[in-house]
This record gives sequence, C-alpha cells and structure tokens, in this order.
Amino acid sequence: MADQTAPTPEQPKQHPEPVVAPKPQPQRVPQQKSQQQGRFNQNQQRSQQQWADISVVIPLYNEEESLKELHQQLRSTLGRMNIRYELIFIDDGSTDRSIQVLRDLRRTDKHIRIYRFRRNYGKSAALSVGFEKAQGSIVITMDADLQDDPAEIPALKKKLDEGYDLVSGWKKVRHDPITKTIPSKFFNFITSLMTGVHLHDMNCGLKAYRKDVVKSVNVYGELHRYVPVLAHWEGFKVGEIVVHHRARKFGKTKFGIGRFWKGFLDLLTVLFTTRYFRRPLHLFGPLGLIAILAGMVIDGVLVFEWFQGSTALSNRPLFLVGIMLIIVGIQFFSIGLLGEMISKSRRIEEEYSIKEVIK
Ligand code: UDP
Ligand code: MG
Repeated sequence: MADQTAPTPEQPKQHPEPVVAPKPQPQRVPQQKSQQQGRFNQNQQRSQQQWADISVVIPLYNEEESLKELHQQLRSTLGRMNIRYELIFIDDGSTDRSIQVLRDLRRTDKHIRIYRFRRNYGKSAALSVGFEKAQGSIVITMDADLQDDPAEIPALKKKLDEGYDLVSGWKKVRHDPITKTIPSKFFNFITSLMTGVHLHDMNCGLKAYRKDVVKSVNVYGELHRYVPVLAHWEGFKVGEIVVHHRARKFGKTKFGIGRFWKGFLDLLTVLFTTRYFRRPLHLFGPLGLIAILAGMVIDGVLVFEWFQGSTALSNRPLFLVGIMLIIVGIQFFSIGLLGEMISKSRRIEEEYSIKEVIK
C-alpha cells in the first residue's frame, strides 16, 4: 500500500509526507483509482528492474539535530562512489522536528524516501519496513545519530564483493559510556557462544546486506540485534570489518538499561526459533536428563547413608530437593517430547531458505 504513496526518484511526489498506512480516502473517484493501480504496477516493474545499487536504511527517533549533517556526509560518500542509490529514512514516531528536517532535505535531494510511523514502534520495526521498501541490490543500515560513519560504506561494499552476504561493523574503538561497553562485551561473548556466530559487535547499527538477506530475514519484536544470527541460520555468509565509531554528538541514547534484559530474552527467542525450532527435545531433553540424574544421585547417596544406619530420611531436607529435581526433569523431558510431536505433525512452510532453483 505504502508504495502507492511513496515518492521514488523517477516520479513526481504525490504526497508531501508519505506514510506507511495512508488514511482511507473514500471520496476518491474511479479514475484516480485506476491511476493508482497504474502507478502500483509501475512500481512493481521498477522493483524488478532494481533501479538502485545501494539502499541506505536509516531508522530514527528524535534525531532532528543530526539529520542534516548525516545527509551531507552520506551524499558526499555515495556521490563519490558513482552508483545509483536511495536513502530511506524511517521516522519511528519522532516527537521532535525530525520530520520537518527530513521534508526539507527531500526537497533538495530526490534520492530520499521517507516513511513515517504513526507512533514509536521501535528500531526493529523501522528496520523491517526499511528492508521491505529497499530496492537496491545492496542494503546498508546505519544509525541516524552520527555515531556511525557513512565513509565506511565503500569498505562494507568491498567486503560484500569478496563473497559475503552480510557484513557487520565492528566498533573496535568505541566511544560510548562504560555502562554500555562492558555489558555489550558480555552480551557478544554469550551470543557468540550460544549461536555459533562469532562476531565481536553483533549489535552494531552499521551493516551491509545483500538484497536476498533483507528480503528473507524476518525482523520483529526487538530482534534487530540478532539479524546476523538469523541470516547465518538461513545459510548466508556473515563477516565483519572494523569500522570507525564516534561519540554521540546530539541528543541521548534511546535505549535504557532495559536493553540488556530485552536483549537476553531475544537471545532465547532467537535460539528457540532457529536452533531448536524443529528439535525441541534437543533443548529440553538434556536439561531434563541433567535434572533427573542430579536428583537420582542426591537421593541415592542419602538412601545409601540411611541404609548404613545414619540419619533418617525424614531429617534430610536435601532428599526433597532430589525428588523435586527428578520431577522437574521428567517434566522438561515431557515438554520436549510434546514439542517434538507438535513440530512433526505441523506442516511448516517457508522453513528452508532456497538460494536458487535450476530447472
Ligand atoms: N531508534 C529508533 N527507534 C527507537 C529507538 C532508536 O529508530 O525506538 C534509532 C535511533 O534514532 C538511532 C538508532 O535507532 O538512529 C540507534 O539508537 P541509539 O543511538 O539511541 O542507540 P545506541 O547508539 O545507544 O545503541
Ligand atoms: Mg547511538
């Protein structure tokens, strides 16, 4: 729907302010409707022709001070690269003047496309819409707060050309407060251990993707942190390069301390929906077995001691812990088995990512 209203560089802008979900306009006369239809087909054709080489997707939430400078930097880098590009700004429900600044920029630069959310849905939602709308064969994502340096785009592209499908930035020298850098190191270590994707800086906003990746990976909730894991799981080749990072010049971070808690929950979601989705028993089975074994060992030792004539079992609280571990273990095991049955009986579609079909 939004494609009907979104301006593209080759066509005149219809709305001063494109929105994701345009308000219904019942008063439209049939003739206008058919024009709309026509434009839609044109758009479809254009996306097949792929008019941009690079799409830069920029989620933003209250970043009015940074946008102008960011645009200048992007323009200078992309202009020098001699490629066709588009700049997709996703205004994630900003309450400051961001949208006015963007509109002013749009007037001077037809590479810009703006999608504005009705409210703040979060960075993942913004990226998801950006991914859907991007038409370039390469998609770059970057933060709008000037912390990511647009001058890194050629290096990211070069790495993609080496055969990677997703290249993540690694802010090796980071200009963030210690309250963020230390938890981030821990987060990256755990994620790399649990998922098998060995990146130093999973959550870096600056990343480059081949079009196939953004069209097949489903970013929802707050899963933007784990796009490389999702991509890796679908068989895409994931790499990283060191990128230049800058301190936040204007405004403040949009994520509070809650990011770590949410990040952890999302890691569980990612593990569950990728690694263990089809084999739930592989997750619950070992947990259950460990609990059952631990319970049996504890209770076995206590029963043995009781036989030897020492303390009565009724005086050993640890005995109850052992029983509880056995019961919990059996439950884990049963949940795993039930999960297996459900995943076997359900017909799961779009489960496998197919790279190519040769007939
Ligand atoms: N952002 C967004 N929606 C949100 C929060 C953040 O689009 O709900 C954008 C924000 O404007 C910025 C990027 O996501 O362009 C990264 O946010 P921020 O700089 O606050 O994160 P940090 O650098 O602290 O990780
Ligand atoms: Mg930032």
